[in-house]
Amino acid sequence: MEKTFEALGVSEYILKALAEQGVTLPTKVQLEGIGPLLAWKDVIAKAPTGTGKTFAFGIPMIEHIEPESEELQGLILAPTRELALQICDELRGLLTHRKDVRVAVVYGGQRMEPQLKALKAKPQILVATPGRLMDHYNRKNIRFDKIKTVILDEADRMLDMGFFDDVTAILNRIKNRVNLGLFSATISQEVQTVSWMYQRDEVEITVEATNESKPDIDQFSITCTRLDKLNVTLQLLRSGAFERVIIFCNTKAMCQRLTEDLKRDGIHADCLHGDIRQATRERTMAAFRHGKLPVLIATDVASRGIDVDDVDGVINYDVPEENEYYIHRIGRTGRARKKGMAFTLIATFPEKAKLDEIAKFAEFSITSMMFDKYGCLIPEESEEKPQQRRKF
Ligand code: ADP
Ligand code: MG
Repeated sequence: MEKTFEALGVSEYILKALAEQGVTLPTKVQLEGIGPLLAWKDVIAKAPTGTGKTFAFGIPMIEHIEPESEELQGLILAPTRELALQICDELRGLLTHRKDVRVAVVYGGQRMEPQLKALKAKPQILVATPGRLMDHYNRKNIRFDKIKTVILDEADRMLDMGFFDDVTAILNRIKNRVNLGLFSATISQEVQTVSWMYQRDEVEITVEATNESKPDIDQFSITCTRLDKLNVTLQLLRSGAFERVIIFCNTKAMCQRLTEDLKRDGIHADCLHGDIRQATRERTMAAFRHGKLPVLIATDVASRGIDVDDVDGVINYDVPEENEYYIHRIGRTGRARKKGMAFTLIATFPEKAKLDEIAKFAEFSITSMMFDKYGCLIPEESEEKPQQRRKF
């Protein structure tokens, strides 16, 4: 028998909001997470991207809010401002038919005043990045004493990004916490540590990457000189193979430079990285999401957690420094059960060694490609066999 949101005890007004978004049946992490969280249990959930983690913790959190109280009751920590904004939007979407539960969001990189104003409106749920939350706390803009539930979303990334001390400082100050939910694509050492320190009798949920949730991505590498990376990128972009592509660079400086180079060559491109003003970032994201910007150039941190379907290609201008970044990067494509393509440009031996390591680690098959004399992309070993040519 199929379990429904209704059978999980989800309220009418949330069911209505879900139905309006076309969400009918719970995903596995929702099926296994909503019940325990509603029962105030600690939960540690390992589930790949795109498996519906936000509703898994968002629905029980909303259900637990006492709307007549103006105290902050639920806290969600997220690693980046983009992700925090996205979670806030999703929760507000669930609250379409419920106006007495307020959700606010605070994150670094924006002035304090608008956030202060949002906090003065007495939200019962707050979504925050850890650093900025501590800032507000230290300035006595927020009190933690009525918080009952804390969720760490993308816990692996958050702790990996150096937020371990902020996160533990926050948890240590929430004296009346009842439960803690850890949601993550992987359970890293740091996530384990936080679980050991702050959870009790936690309910463990594991969602394996199935073929259905595993993105369908063709992965290629192209070897060229460092100077040629720009030309190879232009060739890929002009091949007409992509309508919407994300190019990843390892540094902000590289992102900026590549954006300028591509613009100079007539490509409609823009970038997202930590030094771009928040208002500009939001504009860029919206343009990309709505299909008005075909090429987005981003650092790993800036791109994290952004849910844009229909990205048909990813280009790794730099080979990522962490294995896991590669998986997150290529995970931007091949979503919504569409086929995606990922290209990694390799210019140096260390880059090649790193990519080989990534392929081995993740058991990926990455095909080496090259441009033949006609400008067609072909597998590197098969230059002699034109029938294997792939037209770009
Ligand atoms: P995750 O955090 O695990 O990466 P999200 O919570 O961001 O995943 O959800 C990914 C997408 O799936 C979102 O667009 C969300 O609206 C949608 N979604 C979530 N739950 C369901 C469901 N039960 N049925 C259909 N779509 C869903
Ligand atoms: Mg998520």
